[in-house]
Amino acid sequence: MTRFDGRVALVTGGASGIGKATAQRIASEGGAVVIADVQDDLGAQVATEIEKNGGKALFVHLDVTSEDGWNDAVAKVVDAYGALDILVNNAGIGDTEAIEVTSLDTWNMVVAVTQTSVFLGMKAAADALKKSGKGSVVNISSMYGIVGSGVSPAYHAAKGAVRLLTKTTALGWAKEGVRVNSVHPGFIDTPILGDTDRDMLIAGTPMGRLGRPEEIAALITFLASDDATFVTGSEFVADGGVTAG
Ligand code: NAD
Repeated sequence: MTRFDGRVALVTGGASGIGKATAQRIASEGGAVVIADVQDDLGAQVATEIEKNGGKALFVHLDVTSEDGWNDAVAKVVDAYGALDILVNNAGIGDTEAIEVTSLDTWNMVVAVTQTSVFLGMKAAADALKKSGKGSVVNISSMYGIVGSGVSPAYHAAKGAVRLLTKTTALGWAKEGVRVNSVHPGFIDTPILGDTDRDMLIAGTPMGRLGRPEEIAALITFLASDDATFVTGSEFVADGGVTAG
């Protein structure tokens, strides 16, 4: 037996970075995984690679800001695999500017993709997760959901909201057989970093390197699995020491 035999997972933002590594890890441990993203070609490629390696995977197009989109995606998961046991709310985008020059459009877009998506996802998946009896939600926040950086007001606000949305949902579902936890990565080497100076990020990280997506996937899959059956409403930082000081 492997940890995810017979389990079904939905991973948003599964076409790239942390979501891709998480989908691959769940599939490699026996789970059926649905990759949901707006990057259709990349997402379909991830699903095809997993299947080539003997895993079970499916790609669904999902814009995580759409309530109808979420309802369709959850219905597709249950149609394809008969259940939904694990939800990884991972899709996210960031802003980079100071508050004085951040437009309302940027604020609304970042909050929609990074914060409202987590609300919509848990709401759409609630019935299926409760039916599972072993439901687990892992919401990807950030170390920047716990501490400020001086810029990126929408990202910090959204990630901070994800932290508490996680805790209140965990309490609401504590007796329903669904655990809900948040993961708070530091600087991880994925496309979201864009052209940010990697050397500056490394210099700000006590361990002296960027994190790898697989290192965050390891934490996410721990929380999603039966290794964490008494863990709910908790926040887990993986940041190479940045927030320890
Ligand atoms: P990434 O850019 O590689 O992946 C993000 C994925 O989300 C992409 O595949 C993108 O297409 C998808 N996405 C964006 N908007 C979407 C939408 N509207 N609907 C559906 N999918 C959408 O970046 P990543 O680093 O793997 O990011 C994953 C999560 O980790 C994000 O929530 C991010 O904020 C968080 N995070 C990343 C870091 C880091 O340094 N990489 C640090 C802390 C937190």
